[in-house]
Amino acid sequence: MAIHPDLTSTLADALNRFQVGFQHLPPLDGREDLSALRDVLLQVVERLADNDPYHHPFYLGQMMKPPHPIAWLAYALASSLNPNNHALDGGRASSEMEKEAVAQIAKMFSWETHLGHLTSGGTMANFEALWIARERRPDRGVAASSQAHYTHPRLSAVLQVPFQRIEVDARGRMDVEALELALATNSIGTVVATLGTTAVGAVDPLDSIVTLRDRFDFHLHVDAAYGGYYALVEDLEAATRRAFDAIVHADSIAIDPHKHGLQPYGCGCILFRDSSVGRFYRHDSPYTYFSSNDLHLGEISLECSRAGASAVALWATQQMLPIVQGGEFARNLGLCRQAAQQLYQGLLRQSRWLPLFAPELDIVVWICKAATAQESSRLAKQFFNVATKMDLHLALAEIPRGMVAPLVDEFVWDAPSVTCLRSCLMKPEHFAWMPEILDRLDRAADACFKLSPEH
Ligand SMILES: *Cc1c(COP(=O)(O)O)cnc(C)c1O
Repeated sequence: MAIHPDLTSTLADALNRFQVGFQHLPPLDGREDLSALRDVLLQVVERLADNDPYHHPFYLGQMMKPPHPIAWLAYALASSLNPNNHALDGGRASSEMEKEAVAQIAKMFSWETHLGHLTSGGTMANFEALWIARERRPDRGVAASSQAHYTHPRLSAVLQVPFQRIEVDARGRMDVEALELALATNSIGTVVATLGTTAVGAVDPLDSIVTLRDRFDFHLHVDAAYGGYYALVEDLEAATRRAFDAIVHADSIAIDPHKHGLQPYGCGCILFRDSSVGRFYRHDSPYTYFSSNDLHLGEISLECSRAGASAVALWATQQMLPIVQGGEFARNLGLCRQAAQQLYQGLLRQSRWLPLFAPELDIVVWICKAATAQESSRLAKQFFNVATKMDLHLALAEIPRGMVAPLVDEFVWDAPSVTCLRSCLMKPEHFAWMPEILDRLDRAADACFKLSPEH
């Protein structure tokens, strides 16, 4: 959020030019009460001060970052008209831009065919996938790993299909043998593979899961809400790379442009490889589609009204930063991963920390050394608070025993899980700032552990 001084005048200029397109109409006197508007806007400034600095590299907690300036400028410009991408009647240009932007995402995954659209977020994108999958294979359930996003068991309950948790290995990746045993019961119609789990950024072995389709019939859905854009990064671990290369064989993909795609919130995306699934969306709206026989996005979307501005923002961002291998967008993602690797190395050098494993993507999780699980959890929470006060913003995550046990031989397990410290290095700026971040981490640790004399 380092705001270039000319950004606002660029927006004013673009807004003026945009108005020109409607100049043939009788003018309206758009005379807002500027002083009232300014008063309220300044109230907003005051209210918004109550936030963590999500834009700053010292914020490395949750999956948060501000959109690229082109995204919020394009969003602001489009929302002055407020097109609705439900129907071409509500937004011809923004619907076309949505189709183009979504096709670029499909292309990023090397899909030659697709049916897809933007959604309000990853939850809705996953919901549509699980719904279509259920329609295609009714009477069978959903399987996802125990580290999959909590939305999957919850959405399965909404759809009234049984949900089966599949165990994970010590790095949080789905155990394919356990999946195979579950598939052998013939009760599973949908397998969700997570490429980038929300807690630790683990990538399920999609390539091995794909081969199970030779023997079992299921819809393979990839939840890449957080990790999907890593398909563009070349220097991943070999196993991670193989998983991303297998996306081409999935039946559906959920990805969140509002996570790593530099968009304001309200921008998810769902893709189906078989475009004939459009039939499941069929409905008879008596009043929306009149202007054209071309595809109205409302005909293939569960949500009706959707912000045309979201599509415009995404299209503009992808014009500026194409989502292709070797481009600036991909390089910036690579920097996020390098920042995570540096944090991991820095933690290894300090005897008080135990990082769980080298980050597969850009999330690092670590525990505080202690004699017992409960004590380690208590120290993590204490450190989290001390660090926040010193302007270093981390997150906490509850990690099950199975993923921590390989690191700690002498731990007394007085709890089934450990509260760990967690960092999402989702901004490329983290890389250049890592020496400062590590220094601040050390100083926060000195301050924190002086409070507890036994450490
Ligand atoms: C964030 C996330 C979701 C949920 O997406 P929202 O955009 O928050 O609705 C689902 N799955 C994974 C893996 C995620 O990281």
